[in-house]
Amino acid sequence: MPIARTTMIVESHWRVLKHNYKYNYNRPRLDHLNHIITGRLIPDMLNTWQLYKNNRAYPSWWKAFKTDWRKCLEKDIERLESYHVDIDKWICSCPAFINNPYLVCKHLVQTYAASNPDIPPYKTTIRRHDYPFIHFGEDNPLRIHSINTPWNHIQQSSSNEPETIPEVSGESESSGSSIRARFGTIESRKAVLATDKKIFELLNSILE
Ligand SMILES: [Zn+2]
Repeated sequence: MPIARTTMIVESHWRVLKHNYKYNYNRPRLDHLNHIITGRLIPDMLNTWQLYKNNRAYPSWWKAFKTDWRKCLEKDIERLESYHVDIDKWICSCPAFINNPYLVCKHLVQTYAASNPDIPPYKTTIRRHDYPFIHFGEDNPLRIHSINTPWNHIQQSSSNEPETIPEVSGESESSGSSIRARFGTIESRKAVLATDKKIFELLNSILE
């Protein structure tokens, strides 16, 4: 289950806000809350990000990631040929890979270490939700490819609902049919409104 699909990130954000910033004010007024967020929370977050950027501090996962990496380097590889190891996509078919929270296993780490013996630095190690699951390099790719982001599917499925107006495409035939579909929607809405109006008038006459 990807962490981004749960409420864990939002809940952790609330916890920080409640316990680190508004511990003296149980239910602050909205303007006070706004002052806490803009005056204290956001400057602190910017400061933390600056520390990460300058290699002065590291996020909590980095230490565990490095420990796992070192452990993987020390292990013996006996049956490398029996697993599918793809370092470009950062995937391995061994059970250790899928059970590791950082998606590292001895096969991938040792294949990587054959050409890069040092542990990769924090600044150039990027964990992604898409292939490759771990990216090493100065460039900063998207965490998830735009065609794979679930938000696109949500937008697509909502555009298929009859409530929204269908999109006009470049082809003349389909644009003609989409305009016809729009007229159809308008006519059906008019019919619904006419029935509603009749009911309203009937109720009005009863009240009078
Ligand atoms: Zn493996």
